[in-house]
Amino acid sequence: MMPRLLVARSAADGGLQLGDNAAMPSTDTAQAPAPLPPFKSVRYAGRAPGPRLIVTGAVHGNETCGTRGIERVMADLDSGRLVLQAGSVTFVPITNAKAYVLGRRAGDRNLNRALQPTAEPREFEDHVANWLCPLLAEHEVLLDLHSFQSPGRAFVMVGPRDNTGPLEPFAHAADEEALARRLGVGRAVDGWLDTYATGVARRRAAAEAEGRSGTLDLHPRYGVGTTEYMRSQGGWALTLECGQNDDPQSPEVAYAAIRQTLAHLGLTAEAPPPVVSPMEALSLVDVIDKVHNDDAFARPWQSFDALRAGDLIGTRANGEAVHAPHDGWIVFPNPRSEARQEWFYLARASGRF
Ligand SMILES: [Zn+2]
Repeated sequence: MMPRLLVARSAADGGLQLGDNAAMPSTDTAQAPAPLPPFKSVRYAGRAPGPRLIVTGAVHGNETCGTRGIERVMADLDSGRLVLQAGSVTFVPITNAKAYVLGRRAGDRNLNRALQPTAEPREFEDHVANWLCPLLAEHEVLLDLHSFQSPGRAFVMVGPRDNTGPLEPFAHAADEEALARRLGVGRAVDGWLDTYATGVARRRAAAEAEGRSGTLDLHPRYGVGTTEYMRSQGGWALTLECGQNDDPQSPEVAYAAIRQTLAHLGLTAEAPPPVVSPMEALSLVDVIDKVHNDDAFARPWQSFDALRAGDLIGTRANGEAVHAPHDGWIVFPNPRSEARQEWFYLARASGRF
């Protein structure tokens, strides 16, 4: 009921167009904004009962491997080359249409932060959230397909271990682990929301000490994206980072992962996918912010570069050296981040897989 109402409204108001938001860069040359495509999902259902899966692509608009992989699997289903025998699968080929049309990560803001429905949508991503969140909640399992900027191997991000804590209580860790082992990638990462919340708490304490008022990005749940929202609704979810944004192999990784997910969940009658072994398992354990814009890395780090305790990671603008506190890996290093924003994450071996 809810999603149909929202779809009807978004199609009817016609107001969601490029350039319709004050946050968009404007130019003086009068040019009619290109209309954005409507929100679109396509659902296939088998005759037998089974899990309800949803697969999303282009949550970040310049990460198109998922869109390509989804299009291929839909063509397989439409042609009868692949038969859906049980359950259902919903495909969202382009989750963030504005970012996708612009060919960049975000439209007005990162859709994968503070994701929740809102009564007062302002930015484009608020409208996406009002459509996407109820849609996610209709499903049990989410496979969210992404890619990344710098070179590197594909990896899967899993949720927390089962827990009853306040931040992200969860009871489907075994389901996520079983699927994560069968996506054809050899590296799994957990600890996202915990570590993100730790960083937020630290940033917030610093802001309060300096008398700055709280903003949205100082909220503990700011780290909630598609998978965290799915878990908050009783489902389970994986983010698959399929490879580098423009690597022709990334759409292949996405396509294979969707096919393997369908087989693993019994939605198709194909042979169950093989378990990847060994699987490298990492936990994000800390996030280090820049203190000053000119804090600089000691070398051009890439995600998952190995660290030994004591390695020089970078130097603060005041000359203070930043060393690795333990063996592990550097993850999501961002040399261009600004003061009080995430500079890099630290990960340790987790032994979870
Ligand atoms: Zn992404």
